[in-house]
Amino acid sequence: MATAKLPVLALPHPSILLPSARVTIPVSKSLGQLLLSLIEGSDALPIVAAIPLTSPVNDDKTLPPPPDVSANQVSSDLPLAEWGTAARVLRLVRPPASTRTSPQQPYLVSLHGLTRVRLLPSKNKLTAQLVTSSLQTRDVEYPPQETVPSKEAVERFKQAAGRLLERLSRDSMQLSRREGYAKILGMLDDLQDARAPWMADVLMGTLNSEYADNLAILSTPDAEARLQTATTIFLKQASISEVSRKIASAVDESLSKQQKEFFLKQQLTAIQRELQALQKGSGDSPSGNANNLPSGPIDTNAGTADKGSGSELDDDEQHEADDLADLKRRIEAMAVGSEERKMGVREWRRLKRIPQGSVENGVIRTYLEWLTSIPWPNSAPLSPSSASTSDLKDRSFLKNARSQLDSDHFGLEKIKKRLIEYLAVVRLKELNNEKEQQTQEQNSEPKAEGKEVVLYDKQQSSKIPSSPAPAPKRRKAIRGPILLFVGPPGTGKTSLGQSIAKSLGRPFQRISLGGVRDEAEIRGHRRTYVASGPGLIVQALRKAGRPDPVLLLDEIDKIGQSNFHGDPGAALLEVLDPEQNWNFNDHYINVPVDLSQVLFICTANSLDTISTPLLDRCEIIQLSGYTYDEKMHIARRFLLPKQLTANGLEPEHVTITEPALLHIATRYTREAGVRSLERAIGGVIRYKAVEWAEYLDKGGDPNVIHQAESVPQENQAANSGKPTYRRSVLESDLEQILGISRYDESEMEREARRGLIYGLVVTGAGEGGVMPVESIAVPGTGKLKLTGSLGDVIRESGELALSWVKRHAWELGMVDRPMEDVLKAGRGLGMPGSKEAAVDIHLHLPAGAQKKDGPSAGVAMTCALVSLLTGACVPSTTAMTGEITLRGRVTAVGGIKEKVLGAHRAQMTKVILPYANRKDVEHDVPLEVRNEMEFVFVRTVQEALEAAFGKGALGWRGTVGDGAGRHVLMESRL
Ligand code: ADP
Repeated sequence: MATAKLPVLALPHPSILLPSARVTIPVSKSLGQLLLSLIEGSDALPIVAAIPLTSPVNDDKTLPPPPDVSANQVSSDLPLAEWGTAARVLRLVRPPASTRTSPQQPYLVSLHGLTRVRLLPSKNKLTAQLVTSSLQTRDVEYPPQETVPSKEAVERFKQAAGRLLERLSRDSMQLSRREGYAKILGMLDDLQDARAPWMADVLMGTLNSEYADNLAILSTPDAEARLQTATTIFLKQASISEVSRKIASAVDESLSKQQKEFFLKQQLTAIQRELQALQKGSGDSPSGNANNLPSGPIDTNAGTADKGSGSELDDDEQHEADDLADLKRRIEAMAVGSEERKMGVREWRRLKRIPQGSVENGVIRTYLEWLTSIPWPNSAPLSPSSASTSDLKDRSFLKNARSQLDSDHFGLEKIKKRLIEYLAVVRLKELNNEKEQQTQEQNSEPKAEGKEVVLYDKQQSSKIPSSPAPAPKRRKAIRGPILLFVGPPGTGKTSLGQSIAKSLGRPFQRISLGGVRDEAEIRGHRRTYVASGPGLIVQALRKAGRPDPVLLLDEIDKIGQSNFHGDPGAALLEVLDPEQNWNFNDHYINVPVDLSQVLFICTANSLDTISTPLLDRCEIIQLSGYTYDEKMHIARRFLLPKQLTANGLEPEHVTITEPALLHIATRYTREAGVRSLERAIGGVIRYKAVEWAEYLDKGGDPNVIHQAESVPQENQAANSGKPTYRRSVLESDLEQILGISRYDESEMEREARRGLIYGLVVTGAGEGGVMPVESIAVPGTGKLKLTGSLGDVIRESGELALSWVKRHAWELGMVDRPMEDVLKAGRGLGMPGSKEAAVDIHLHLPAGAQKKDGPSAGVAMTCALVSLLTGACVPSTTAMTGEITLRGRVTAVGGIKEKVLGAHRAQMTKVILPYANRKDVEHDVPLEVRNEMEFVFVRTVQEALEAAFGKGALGWRGTVGDGAGRHVLMESRL
């Protein structure tokens, strides 16, 4: 065995240099200089024995021997390993200060491992300090020539190394590394057996093996043994790498799963929170769906609210389950075999198939909620308030109905009489119906028992259970007339409807049709439509909760005409037609709904815009408005108590004196109904309520209320120092409470002027009133100009009036010759300037006039023209209405009661009316109004002129005496 003397260079722990590997290590200054002198002193590159240190050694201090001193150590106090490598010093560099690892080790020395050497024991012990600061020359021994290892060992080695390299190349992130590993793998294949130990050294040097493994390899000079050690190390490393890879991916997987779980849980909590907030927001409605359904007749929450056990989440599920159970119960309550039940069952099945929480599920739920909450006539009664005829059977029904009407409304005697007739008919029909049904039931029962039931469809017979379910029966419709209340606003149309419902003991629902343009609003939207829902009729039925409510169709005259959204009027026709309405088709519900038990009452302000087929189905009841006297009674008996309760006062707190009330009615309101009156009274009461509250706040005695007389002067109260409250409202207080009265001024403006006449009209709201007809002469060519809110008819009326005046101009003394045109006669007609010029006449009807009032303004227009052309004036307290014909006849017009009441409100004292309307005045106009006004009934224009201008005021030429005969002659010629 060859030995040699080599300077020993200690490799800092944990560096190890294996043969054929390279290493660069930092060395101290002294060591660096020693190395330098060594390099300089030799011809070739010097060789040193690079022996690894077994434990970390500080340059300055000698460390105590490490606790894990390996067996390879020469002696326990020697810090060097037994085996090292003979290495060539390739380079010694002094790198710049910034890149140095430590200031104590300024040099870097690069070594190339050549072969193993063993440090031979020597007498001079090596200390840690010695080996790190000096190059001690020592005896080293070279191992004998390596033998060729066995084939099996080589094979095992190759396999282990291959496995490790593969693993490493697979796990490596860097491409260059991967390629390097692949290259070595390739070399392994062609490896000769003799080179295998060398390969083991190379691989161990390349792979970042542990210190102990490297040392083990270094300390094993025998080729076979070394190969085995390397194989074991490689196998160990490969499996460590595999396991750590597996662990990493498993950890990865479990982490991402955990994250997923966490994320989903977070989402779930957020969704539940949102749902809870929604449910809280939508009150106690458990369904809380988009359509915000009103709760049906059944209390779906019963029992769930006070369970109170478990968490909120449990509660939610409980609610859900209760809802569904309730829905199911309602479907089961529907008549067996009925259309609605079939539909309900079908949709229920669909609901079960569709996952909860989906949009479709919500849509079906909403539909089923609607379907099941409609009061189907044959459904088992779920609510206690089911239809009953007990009220009707009561012998005193009519008497009760009468007292109900009386207690709700003042006056309206004729209307009440008609309503009692109506109620009597409804009652009779209902009772007959019931009797008929009973006898039918009695007849059918024994038959079913005695005989075998023969089914008309034999195929179906097998499906039908032994006791067939009774087919749903339809109650006979009450085909009374449909009442239509027509009249101005505030005349009690709606409240009459309510009274009828009350006396019949049925629920009352009002459907406002004003402005309904879309047929779908009545019939509902099809379910395909987004946010679809049922129409107004079905909604009202649901709210009523019974199949036989009183439905008030309010303002049917304001319903939209046929347009591209369909014809709402036509839908209404179907609703009101007793022949069709037992299977009314709502597009949303899509099951025929029976409306035949519903009592329909309609209201309208005027009849003009109502289509004829609709009018045909209705019986019209006119409410024309109230006289001041009636209004006073209504105010005292109904409106005042109502407003007092509404504003939290007692009757003893406020009294409105009679003159004050009349002042409110005449000066602050001018309407046919009592709406504004009610508002004005409400204003007064509110004012008093504030006063009363202030009085109490100031410490006033609630039991001491002064009458008006007891506190005549305000200053008296101030003197006494005590707060006072006056309960009476006097006429003089009104200006302070309600402001300046609205209707004084227009009265002041009214004056008797040439060419100005007051006609009478009925406005679109059905209210009567006074309309001025103004006329003036303007320079022109003898034409008539008409302005104002006029229709074609009124234009013709104007022409007619002018023709009549022109024809009778000579008799009326307007022209000097019989056939002269009065407009071209050059009489100036009150205009200053040339008497020769022809004139045009401008006739103006200011706002408020209705197109339909055309013909009825005929008399007023004629009088206006006569006044203009003759210069005679009509007093401003005279109003007139009437249609004229070319022959000069005055024919009847409509709306007499409204017009007369309107004239009365406008404080007219004389009204000129067509003779044919005499009966209307006698029948319709209240006596008190008749007593306060003078009525002149006229047959001809001539009579009208006389009534308007006064007898003899116009000075008729030659026709007055024998005029009758000549008129007859003229008429016959026409
Ligand atoms: P409409 O439907 O005709 O517009 P309402 O029925 O709404 O009018 O009536 C308006 C108010 O006037 C209601 O408070 C009603 O009670 C009251 N009212 C109308 N007429 C009378 C009457 N004859 N007697 C008592 N109150 C009346």
